[in-house]
Amino acid sequence: MMVDWNNISEGIIVSVVTGLLFSLAGVLLSPPFKEKIGEWQRAIEGLINPAIIIPMKVFFILCPICSDKMKNLIVKQNKLQNIFRFDIAEFKLWDKHIESEDNLKSLQTTSRLEFCERFLEEMEKFNRDQGQEEDSTRINIAITQMPFPKNWYTWNTKNRKGIVIGIDSLSKIKPEIIDKIALRIIQRMSIYSLGIKNLRTHELTVGCLFDNTTYLPNIEQSVENNYICDVCKKIIIDNKGEKFFNKINDWINNSFR
Ligand SMILES: [Zn+2]
Repeated sequence: MMVDWNNISEGIIVSVVTGLLFSLAGVLLSPPFKEKIGEWQRAIEGLINPAIIIPMKVFFILCPICSDKMKNLIVKQNKLQNIFRFDIAEFKLWDKHIESEDNLKSLQTTSRLEFCERFLEEMEKFNRDQGQEEDSTRINIAITQMPFPKNWYTWNTKNRKGIVIGIDSLSKIKPEIIDKIALRIIQRMSIYSLGIKNLRTHELTVGCLFDNTTYLPNIEQSVENNYICDVCKKIIIDNKGEKFFNKINDWINNSFR
């Protein structure tokens, strides 16, 4: 019997190559690798168009329940999207932080706007003292347990460069849920800061990131599964296009990965 070595070696090559391709495909499609590819894509997009990344400086001011875990969850968002770059201010290490906190504690106002303007003033004092250059794109976010005027929990300054999030009403909730709720509000307010026309909270309570929740602990049940409803989706697409919406949507759906 004649052995056709040509056919046999061809067969071996084909199976080796097929095997390699399949294992490579397996590696490429495995979740950690896919995650890495997503990170690289976002990094490359950021390099091509760095102007789209908005610096967001997050301050924990008079906020004992703001933990390192909360800090880590916020910073982790930089890997999950490339529209905003979150950076935590080392406010407690600032030699004037007590003075700054005292200024805020003495604040007596029923105006949510004034409350936010005063927080922004203090955050900008910190930025200047740290030698940070004026940056007209930077947005400062304060998370605080100070009572918010009119029992509300978040507002922004007139120029939208300052956001304050009041989380005192969450103090009886499990810490990991507090962190997640704080992150959802950061996401909502960050997207608001882009000035998307007609985007605002809606009365309909459907688990959307833009539900008008009057009492913050009510978000507890829906926080894991918040999404962007069809109404808000249409508004975002009409203003910013589908590609932008997809970025936002991926981020909201994968925030706690
Ligand atoms: Zn909505």
